[in-house]
Amino acid sequence: MSSDEPIRLDKSCRICGSQKTKDVWELKPTPPGDRFVPESQLDSSKEKHPLILALCEACGYLHLPHVLDPKLIYSDYLYESKVTLGLRQHFKEYAEKVLSISKTAKGSMVVDLGSNDGSLLEVFQNLGMTVLGIEPSVIALKANDIVPTIRDYFNEELAKNIVKNQGKAAIVTANYMYANIDDVKQFTRDAKELLDEDGIFVIQTGYHPEQMKIFMFDYIYHEHIAYFTVKVLSRLLQDCGFELLHVETNPMKGGSVRAIAQHAGGQRKIDQSVDAFIQNEEAAGMHKCETYFRFAEDINDRKIALLELLNPLKSENKRIVGYGASISTTTLAHQFEIGGHLEYIVDDNPIKQGLYSPGYHLPVYASGKLYEDMPEYVVILAWQYQDAIIERNREYLDRGGAFIVPLPDTKIVKK
Ligand SMILES: [Zn+2]
Repeated sequence: MSSDEPIRLDKSCRICGSQKTKDVWELKPTPPGDRFVPESQLDSSKEKHPLILALCEACGYLHLPHVLDPKLIYSDYLYESKVTLGLRQHFKEYAEKVLSISKTAKGSMVVDLGSNDGSLLEVFQNLGMTVLGIEPSVIALKANDIVPTIRDYFNEELAKNIVKNQGKAAIVTANYMYANIDDVKQFTRDAKELLDEDGIFVIQTGYHPEQMKIFMFDYIYHEHIAYFTVKVLSRLLQDCGFELLHVETNPMKGGSVRAIAQHAGGQRKIDQSVDAFIQNEEAAGMHKCETYFRFAEDINDRKIALLELLNPLKSENKRIVGYGASISTTTLAHQFEIGGHLEYIVDDNPIKQGLYSPGYHLPVYASGKLYEDMPEYVVILAWQYQDAIIERNREYLDRGGAFIVPLPDTKIVKK
């Protein structure tokens, strides 16, 4: 590790600078959630870091005050967009919607910041746009076969280089990465630098006001430094010379928001969705500490329910395994403290198979292992995909196995 300090603690608000930030939920310390390790690293990587959710009482910014060194997180980042169920179809709808709102001419440049495997840009390319991806992780190398991709972190220097060599962009997108940016204000100004006069900036990110309705808390992990409401996004964008133009939600990742901004004073008319979202957020108490105290209690109730189910099974020496090896399942397993109940994890993503889970170091196998082994219970850690997982594994149920679903409410699924 190049940095001496793997973690930094910010005591003031990153958006408004206020000192009025308050811890609203102290989660269990957790390892970097996507750090699935090979057998050779089992000795060296058990470190855990604080995972605390805080709220700025001045501006409503919900965030993690602790920031992990990005090198700890992204150097061998394994997430690929294509692996996420339904994301490709979603990106098609996304690109068409953005083009219809922006009315951008064909051939104009679309730059995706944190372009991952190029899935979104591929769609824009097929719709006649010129595209460019920026992606710091090793996935960039593979993405380059599909769309031009620069393997780097996006910053001011890179923005200037792109403008110099390729001109300004008509559309800049940032999907599921905006909440991961440490200096988000500088990042936003750099995005503005990259945009032409009529350019638009599109942010899609997890939307906790929706996620909380289904008790989805496992979207909280070190990578996600920020949990944005539209109110906070709007303020942040204004501070950086943008104005929010259009907002909508979609069901991706348990609830996401797509916010489209133009340069402040731009020519497009501001949609009424912006104010409507902010009013709804205020009415739902999204900028108040009590809302998150309550949420933490609701999650704890579900943790207790799950443990009350698993503990007796474990005492009876029933064999229990987990389904789903992802960054979210790391949060779930550590917060619910169920790593010790599980013998191993199965996952359908070949990238994870053969590795060991962060912290608990449970081995990860292909889901075919369930049929060789027939463990009595499978806890669906990737509970957001429970319907697809159960459907795909009817045979396991037919042969007498049982699924345990931890969220939104604990339940057992048998044949
Ligand atoms: Zn603040």
